[in-house]
Amino acid sequence: MQTWKNQGIEALHFQNRFVAELPGDPIAENRCRQVSKACYSHTTPTAVCSPTLLALVPEVAELINLSTSETPVLTEVLSGNRVLTPMTPYAACYGGHQFGNWAGQLGDGRAITLAEVVNEHDESFELQLKGAGVTPYSRRGDGRAVLRSSLREFVSSEAMHHLGIPTTRALSLVATGERVERDLFYDGNAKLEPGAIVCRVAQSFLRFGSYEIHAARGDVDTLRKLTTFTLRHFFPKFIDGDICDVPAFLEEVSRRTARLVVEWMRVGFVHGVMNTDNMSILGLTIDYGPFGWVEDFDLNFTPNTTDASGRRYRFGNQPSIGYWNIAQLGRALAPLVDDVAQVERAVDRYKREVETAYVQMLLGKLGLTRRDDCVDDDETLLGGLFSFLTTCQSDMTLFFRHLANCQLSEPLSCDEVLATFNETFYDSGASSTKNHSELQAWVSHYRERVRIENVSDLERKARMDKVNPLYVPRNYLIHQVIEKTVTAEGAWDRAPLAELLEVLRRPYDVQPGKEAFAAKRPEWARHKAGCSMLSCSS
Ligand code: AMP
Ligand code: MG
Repeated sequence: MQTWKNQGIEALHFQNRFVAELPGDPIAENRCRQVSKACYSHTTPTAVCSPTLLALVPEVAELINLSTSETPVLTEVLSGNRVLTPMTPYAACYGGHQFGNWAGQLGDGRAITLAEVVNEHDESFELQLKGAGVTPYSRRGDGRAVLRSSLREFVSSEAMHHLGIPTTRALSLVATGERVERDLFYDGNAKLEPGAIVCRVAQSFLRFGSYEIHAARGDVDTLRKLTTFTLRHFFPKFIDGDICDVPAFLEEVSRRTARLVVEWMRVGFVHGVMNTDNMSILGLTIDYGPFGWVEDFDLNFTPNTTDASGRRYRFGNQPSIGYWNIAQLGRALAPLVDDVAQVERAVDRYKREVETAYVQMLLGKLGLTRRDDCVDDDETLLGGLFSFLTTCQSDMTLFFRHLANCQLSEPLSCDEVLATFNETFYDSGASSTKNHSELQAWVSHYRERVRIENVSDLERKARMDKVNPLYVPRNYLIHQVIEKTVTAEGAWDRAPLAELLEVLRRPYDVQPGKEAFAAKRPEWARHKAGCSMLSCSS
């Protein structure tokens, strides 16, 4: 008899649709190779020597009806040391455009999906271990992940969920007890670091690159099978029997991707590596690597050292890159569509969606709504906002929370404006008179616009505090937790991570006693590796 009460991992309801319904690699051997005419390769995780469960997320456990009791078998499964009988682990085959160039086959080089779990609502979730050892797609990599990058993904994906933004989730973080060699600065000074494994959870980890690889190889048969599978399980309204409405599906992915990118812009998230292999077909934030959160406002900010010269993935460029990526997906799906104009229309949906949603989101951050009589004025208001936020190096997160607290019933003097925002500035140059008058002029303009909106200070604050988070996982905060998680004695301290996760569960609420988590980035962190810029070495 089926029971849905939260239970031990052995008793969960597993299924393996991806493996059962899609073409797989007939070769069982785990060696690097090109895998053609297949969506996956059977791959077993490589055991680790001494796994320690550092964190388990109760809500994610609940989502799959898993009990949060920490049993030895749970740790064994989440470290890849034990594969349960109903599981058929695999690594997925995909390709991708990296930094604008077609990179050929990539695939899960260190991620292994154990199985899908069905919950009491008949929802299915993949359990995927990241850092579980080599696969046929590992190329020159070791299949492993270090603690610092795993902890970053673990914390940030959960934070993203609580910010209300679509994302893959994280069930667990396990330290492997093994060391992994990484050259953090790519300068020939490789070091041994503690290894870790995150168990990621999502309905699907399919990416744009999952479709691109088959299209690039001219393998329309596999492309069609994968697309049919995707629609059947994740977009059922676009499939009737075996007939797929591919343009409608593509349009939906365009819409979701546009919405996702606008949401990133809302909270100041910079993905850092928006390659097409890191773009989820479900419109989730996926593959957290050298990402960052905007602190001193700068549309040109990129957290990724590899991106520092071209800045392709800079904060302000994310909406355009989303379009470029959707166009690649459109190209990949084109062989399944009779009329190429339908593909173009579906891809263009992205542009329309992003333009409208972006302006609405920005106005929302100011507690305003779109009004036909204010369109031109709002453009000036938003342009002015970006301009002084950049020159004053204002902390993006804190600025909007401070603005929400402003009393606008009376005009604000220059001193009052300064007193309100001074704490959000990183640059002492911000105290130049020119910047102050620019800011004061902007606040007056804003005050006027608020008057047209006819919204009280109280109502405006309520609106704004719902969309402007107070707590985001700033890189320096995560960095501090990483340093504290391994004690000087070489033991594990789980408390700092647990505390950070707890705060990030309610990012919009003021949490007394947790002021340190909302603080502006300290000066020591401005140029410190891992706090402002990150390399892809993970
Ligand atoms: P990413 O930049 O993390 O999206 O990874 C790009 C590609 O490199 C993917 O195919 C990854 O699976 C692969 N990859 C990254 N790190 C490793 C590693 N340590 N071992 C094997 N493959 C890796
Ligand atoms: Mg990736």
